[in-house]
Amino acid sequence: MFREFGGPLAVEEVPDPAPPADGVVLEVGASGICRSDWHAWQGHDPGVALPHVPGHELAGTVVAAGPDVQRVAAGDRVTVPFCLGCGRCAPCRAGETQVCDDDYQPGFTGWGSWARYVALPHADLNVVALPGDLDFVAAAALGCRFMTAWAAVRVHGRVAEGEWVAVHGCGGLGLSAVMIAAAAGARVVAVDIDREKLGRARRLGAEAAVDARAGGVEAVRDATGGGAHVSLDALGSAATCAASVRSLRKRGRHVQVGLMLAGDRAAPVPMARVIAHELSLHGVHGMAVRHYPELLAAVASGAVDPAAVVGATVPLEQAGAELAAMGSFARTGATVITSF
Ligand SMILES: [Zn+2]
Ligand SMILES: [Zn+2]
Repeated sequence: MFREFGGPLAVEEVPDPAPPADGVVLEVGASGICRSDWHAWQGHDPGVALPHVPGHELAGTVVAAGPDVQRVAAGDRVTVPFCLGCGRCAPCRAGETQVCDDDYQPGFTGWGSWARYVALPHADLNVVALPGDLDFVAAAALGCRFMTAWAAVRVHGRVAEGEWVAVHGCGGLGLSAVMIAAAAGARVVAVDIDREKLGRARRLGAEAAVDARAGGVEAVRDATGGGAHVSLDALGSAATCAASVRSLRKRGRHVQVGLMLAGDRAAPVPMARVIAHELSLHGVHGMAVRHYPELLAAVASGAVDPAAVVGATVPLEQAGAELAAMGSFARTGATVITSF
């Protein structure tokens, strides 16, 4: 819990949450530590009120359900997308819960899952049952990076077998995209400035690895025979966004997956090239809950492995130190809290 932005991160005793009438309480089994949590702690997210408990990449067991819940019961092993839809607005009625007009985001608009228990609203719409053999660490690793990468590659990029996919930035999000694109039968070129991350991308299925500092765009065009069919900015910066657009062949699809924050909010995009080459641009804000069955089937078949992007597991007591360290260095792979 933190009581001021950028202030101390401490484990505290608080009253157990009660389920909303249409919601549930989970006993948390695992919860990821994400850069978005760092931004929330720093006060960069206007939706966060103090005091606050972070945590949005979660999996656990239902321990209580409100009287209006029909589809979920105590004992169910479940996860949720980080963006829970209200079920009533126009985007939700169209099945696009990830862009709900009145969304609930645990760890942002409410208290999250860096806790023994977390309460979640609108359970019938948003709670996803886990296959019996998917453990909580792997399930927590699905969100937000892995499921957002899934939406980027499969839903927005519509990556087809044999197409070239460039992935700019090989942190947790980029490595997830590499794995998902390779599993779809695409040929992947990974772009980063970090040798270790490029090596990891290769091990997860990238056919080519390019150092962004040594003419990254030209190297991608060379490796792909004239440009990628689909290119992802998985970092989120003016430089990687422009490089991704410029890496595309004619009629290619740029997918903006990395968040554009602070000074990059209105990053310049080479729009003249977008027109001349008939490129298309896609933004991704997580994944609609209706895509989970396909994603979980791919995990169950072994085609993709969210646990492969986990770098470390820690107890709750260590979460604050992990979060504070994010400001100064980036770990390779995701960190997941596994004891509460
Ligand atoms: Zn909605
Ligand atoms: Zn996250």
